[in-house]
Amino acid sequence: MLTDNFGRRFYYLRLSITDVCNFRCDYCLPDGYKCDNDRDFLSLPEIKRIANAFSQLGTEKIRITGGEPSLRKDLPEIIHTCKQTAGIKSVAITSNGYKLPQHLPSWLDAGIDAINISIDSLDPRHFHSITGHNKLDTILKGIDMALADGRPKIKVNTVLMREYNAYDIQSYLDWLKDTPITLRFIELMQTGDNQKFFDEQHVQGTRIKQNLILDGWLPVIQNKSAGPAQEFYHPDYQGKVGLIMPYSKDFCNSCNRLRVSSLGKLHLCLFGEQGLSLKEQLQCDDVEPLKRKIISLLGDKQATHYLHEKLSGATTNLSMLGG
Ligand code: SAM
Ligand code: SF4
Repeated sequence: MLTDNFGRRFYYLRLSITDVCNFRCDYCLPDGYKCDNDRDFLSLPEIKRIANAFSQLGTEKIRITGGEPSLRKDLPEIIHTCKQTAGIKSVAITSNGYKLPQHLPSWLDAGIDAINISIDSLDPRHFHSITGHNKLDTILKGIDMALADGRPKIKVNTVLMREYNAYDIQSYLDWLKDTPITLRFIELMQTGDNQKFFDEQHVQGTRIKQNLILDGWLPVIQNKSAGPAQEFYHPDYQGKVGLIMPYSKDFCNSCNRLRVSSLGKLHLCLFGEQGLSLKEQLQCDDVEPLKRKIISLLGDKQATHYLHEKLSGATTNLSMLGG
């Protein structure tokens, strides 16, 4: 079992398969994706080796992310490969969902267990303004299709922003009344590229948490491969609410995830330094050298990120690593 020097165990791998994205989210890629050089993204055989090595080291859950993972044509094969890996109990994806109705059947056929879709506003004009795309209706239609299918767990990610959503939580709660999804409010995180935006828009999730508790929302008991979200349910609502508050005290104590970038680098923290390359060990089917490398690199994992000190490491934006 992968365990670091602070006794934290890593059940969960976030695997980025591309850093390319078609959206221009204000806090992430406000000027759109810039292709600065040739990208040698992980191939399917490399992904298979990563899944094998991590599962043999105790990983139970793989989340496929990006950039926008659905821009890769072989995404269904990638989902299937992860799903076929012995020991992997859950394969999830985080996507902007821009073609969700079209993509969903192939993801389901490939065996996807959980789908997270990012929706930063339920107001189509705000959605357009944040992402640069007028896709809210399409995305909501895709979510309805996934709910009608009934197999994948559905979560929606909403980055809290002062201007767009932090003071309009009610529209989301109204949606949750009859919609059995988990909606996670994520505190905006500072990255190398978004400092001004962060200063203008960052809102803490604690006020929302207090209001939820006052309104009768109750904490959900989480399992060990769950993320760092604090989740709440309410007997009158079909949906749940989660809060991801990376600036809260002790956030890193429950860290249970590692990240591999689309360039084949291990990232011990979302806000660490440049990743540690696994490329050499990814070239053969024998995963023992890869496992040894991962174990030895894990020794460098720090106790916490340094976001409180306004240090976001080498992460210029989260499309590099997938959040
Ligand atoms: N493109 C996909 C999407 O948007 O869902 C997957 C990649 S995106 C980097 C993963 C998640 O990170 C999204 O939910 C996005 O909203 C979130 N994210 C990106 N930049 C962020 C930031 N600076 N602070 C908080 N969350 C961020
Ligand atoms: Fe693209 Fe996701 Fe970043 Fe938005 S948050 S620009 S959809 S990678």
